[in-house]
Amino acid sequence: RFVALALLTSFISVVAGQLRPLPAAGLPGDLFNLGIASRLRTDGNATARASTDFGQMVTAAPEAVFHPRTPADIAALIRFSASSPAPFPVAPRGQGHSWRGQSLAPGGVVVDMRSMGRGRRGARINVSAAGAEPYVDAGGEQLWIDVLRATLRHGLAPRVWTDYLRLTVGGTLSNAGIGGQAFRHGPQIANVHELDVVTGTGEMVTCSRDKNSDLFFAALGGLGQFGVITRARIMLETAPKRVRWVRLAYTDVVTFTKDQEFLISDRAREVGFNYVEGQVQLNRSFAEGPKSTPFFSATDLNRLAKLALRKGSAAIYYIEGAMYYNEDNPESVDQKMEALMDNLSFEPGFVFTKDVTFVQFLDRVLEEERVLRSAGVWEVPHPWLNLFVPRSRILDFDNGVFKGLLRDANPAGIILMYPMNKDKWDDRMTAMTPTDDEDVFYAVSLLWSALSVDEVVKLERENESVMNLCDKAGIKWKQYLPHHTSQDGWQQHFGAKWGKITELKAKYDPQAILSPGQKIFPSRA
Ligand code: FAD
Repeated sequence: RFVALALLTSFISVVAGQLRPLPAAGLPGDLFNLGIASRLRTDGNATARASTDFGQMVTAAPEAVFHPRTPADIAALIRFSASSPAPFPVAPRGQGHSWRGQSLAPGGVVVDMRSMGRGRRGARINVSAAGAEPYVDAGGEQLWIDVLRATLRHGLAPRVWTDYLRLTVGGTLSNAGIGGQAFRHGPQIANVHELDVVTGTGEMVTCSRDKNSDLFFAALGGLGQFGVITRARIMLETAPKRVRWVRLAYTDVVTFTKDQEFLISDRAREVGFNYVEGQVQLNRSFAEGPKSTPFFSATDLNRLAKLALRKGSAAIYYIEGAMYYNEDNPESVDQKMEALMDNLSFEPGFVFTKDVTFVQFLDRVLEEERVLRSAGVWEVPHPWLNLFVPRSRILDFDNGVFKGLLRDANPAGIILMYPMNKDKWDDRMTAMTPTDDEDVFYAVSLLWSALSVDEVVKLERENESVMNLCDKAGIKWKQYLPHHTSQDGWQQHFGAKWGKITELKAKYDPQAILSPGQKIFPSRA
């Protein structure tokens, strides 16, 4: 019996040994003796997948990819690095849907957050439907589409959505999470009650507005600098069944912005849309862009192209609005919509309407993804630029950029432009908004797809020109999903918050090991 036991023991250790990855030259050898070592992968397949992101603008390989099963696994990895004489960078990666290498960890370890939910669909999403203030506890690795599905089973849903739902909870909360509902409820970060965070020292901390509040405010919009979000408690509201979804066309930017600002104002709160965004379509895209889109038919686009020509406008502007309703009151949504339209000054006859389910509406970008994938233009470089522009300067921005710099351009991609109410943002959080006293600012997103290397260079130059133009005109812009190449740039970005941010970094990630791809703090690792 003793011999059999000895054989079994040696068999188990051989198998366990085989499960252990080969140590990576750039990481301390002791790491591969830890209990979590079997969750590390150092092979080229694994590291190659974690070497770039949606943007395809940066490539940098980690030494290893870590596949945690629990937050405690993440804590063990970070604790090891932080207390090692040779600390190494650690970057949580949600979907890797950023575009400037923010989720990369050159020479360190990428934490594949998605492995915490893998094979256990829904296990880390728990809805609390009872009570006056329902909420969902969602793992930081969960996709928003899965949060939606789980909450809808209780007739509930989060209040604010990004346009695209294949993003992780931790990934969007590390930025802000903006979309067409933010004018009413603020960004996603303003709709969180509580977080579980693994800090840069490997401590597991629960935080909220009342408990460990400095970490709570730091982590929301914190660009992954203060800890890894492993759970978020998110506010819910009653979900509607259906959505009346419209696009209204404008040729005049003054009327367009006036109507947008009316739609996000208190005056329109009761009678208005639940969702307000906007788009800008440059003239040349009618002739050279796609002949139809998931929203517009070829006939629609033809009519719009003729409208632009007839009015001699450089672009067509669309307000995109959505009104929620339930099947039992379709007449009332008709009436509400009609009354609202009377207050708006879009081009007569240029209303485009769809009637869809709530899920179809929220998950609308999936259809665009399918179209772009089948045309081979989804997995291409994305030199995106997202700016927040103060309301008082949005017409100058339009004049300089859409009617100036980009007037004869036709990059592939889309341009979003919509206003938000600043008082819905909590300035204690790390996310930044324009720093003047104005109560409204615009999100302007230049979401380009580059179809060749030359185009990457050209679009990067154009992005630079947009920012230079704003600087010269004294427009106090902020980048959303920010990217700066120097610490000066980051210092400027955070302005008066910079001091606090360096203090919090020293407290929660003193070795500066977390999310090095943001390039905010020089890694001591
Ligand atoms: P990743 O790209 O994996 O990570 C982003 C950063 O967050 C990295 O620094 C990473 O280290 C860190 N991070 C990741 N997970 C965690 C975690 N759990 N805890 C702490 N830090 C973490 N944004 C909007 O606000 N509104 C939109 O409408 C919107 N639409 C988009 C549409 C598309 C098609 C794409 C590609 C992006 C869009 N985004 C939008 C941007 C998106 O929210 C961010 O890029 C977000 O970071 C992506 O989430 P992710 O899970 O892929 O994060």
